[in-house]
Amino acid sequence: MNFLYKHRIVLGFSCLALAVAVTFAFCFFALSRAAAKPLRLAVVIDAGHGGVDGGVVGTVTGKKESDINLSIARILQREFEEAGFLVVQTRPTEAGLYDLATAGYKRRDMQKRAEIIQKNSPTVMISVHQNFFSDPSRRGAQVFFREDSEPSKTLACLVQTSLNSMPECVKKTAALAGDYFVLNCSDTPSVIVECGFLSNPQDEALLLSEEYQKKIASAIAAGTLTFLSSGANAL
Ligand SMILES: [Zn+2]
Repeated sequence: MNFLYKHRIVLGFSCLALAVAVTFAFCFFALSRAAAKPLRLAVVIDAGHGGVDGGVVGTVTGKKESDINLSIARILQREFEEAGFLVVQTRPTEAGLYDLATAGYKRRDMQKRAEIIQKNSPTVMISVHQNFFSDPSRRGAQVFFREDSEPSKTLACLVQTSLNSMPECVKKTAALAGDYFVLNCSDTPSVIVECGFLSNPQDEALLLSEEYQKKIASAIAAGTLTFLSSGANAL
């Protein structure tokens, strides 16, 4: 074996060792990246109002909309977590999303909600509210969607259909387009669910019961899961 041949063998082994090392490094990097990436789809749930902004109040009990919203939002969180989703609440407590209730607090509160939605790139966003109207006979759940978003409209129609199918929902309605900040602040398929009217005594009594709150949350989750399984969110 001459010197040149030996040199080539050493060089060949060196190249092979380097290639193996590079392959290992690449695989390790790819695996660690995959492990760091969340595998679960995120859902953002937005409990409307909070803090000094209680929203509307029940005409019979004086209960605040913000508390009912949070209660339903928490049940909804469990529903989605059980279905395997990562859930992010914009308002996880009674507190509003502003530092101090000084001038412009509502704008800061809404801006914070928008930041949370945008940062988490959820597969859907659901904002939970309660309704109020001058005519106390008005009842039922009402879903709103962003007019220029076909996925939002599809999601809203499916959630509305699911809510309308509840036996307690005596006033069936169609989902409506709405020009609201929380719907317009991202391209995520988004809906506002007004679960019922606090200006109607029957709706108010239902909305304050934990049993009905669970039914509402289950209906919202069912409509949303139908939407996601249809693939309409990817259109
Ligand atoms: Zn509200």
